[in-house]
Amino acid sequence: MAVDSTLLNTMRVAKETVVAIEYTLKDDQGNIIDASGDRGPMEYLHGAQNIIPGLEQGIDGLVAGDTKKVLVPPQLGYGEYNEKLLQLVPLTAFGANTPQVGMRFHAETNLGMRVLTIKKIEGEEVTLDGNHELAGKTLHFDIKVVSVRAAEPTELAHGHPHQSGGCCGGGCGSGEASGGGCCSSEEGSAGGCCSTEEPAAAQKQGGCGSGGCGCS
Ligand SMILES: [Zn+2]
Repeated sequence: MAVDSTLLNTMRVAKETVVAIEYTLKDDQGNIIDASGDRGPMEYLHGAQNIIPGLEQGIDGLVAGDTKKVLVPPQLGYGEYNEKLLQLVPLTAFGANTPQVGMRFHAETNLGMRVLTIKKIEGEEVTLDGNHELAGKTLHFDIKVVSVRAAEPTELAHGHPHQSGGCCGGGCGSGEASGGGCCSSEEGSAGGCCSTEEPAAAQKQGGCGSGGCGCS
């Protein structure tokens, strides 16, 4: 009796699996906001809040090779737009720098460290927006499941995947780098959830922040 190859590698996406997906993210108007594209597939640990809840729900139960359109409303994505996260600061607060609409920077706020975007400049007043750039947006994902595998115990313990540069970039202490594992410096450039770069849109901000990736 011949082995049906379709029965091989049919692990379904479920809690405690490491999933790699390719995705394209569009807004309501069909504009592409983000895509895995040249970065290659995004790997994440399913059920560990590595990615936004709506996307995770949409991927649940799929197998490698599946493609799907996943519609994520704001409440299952980056939240509703919150007017309270707007604040006015005087132009003088920028000192010698010339603020421009659309500029983004990290700043300490009463809600902790946030990315602020300059939304408006009027006269001597600058409006800063602490909302995530995708807050209030319905997200249209086109995804393809590239692979599904069981998570390793250490991945479960750390709450993130450890291979293919999926995680543990700049967030790891240099002392741990020599130990290999997910903290090697080579992987730091891969832009996983611990890199100092802006996380991929599909990844939740702060999913792997300080201490989340000690890899000890
Ligand atoms: Zn780790």
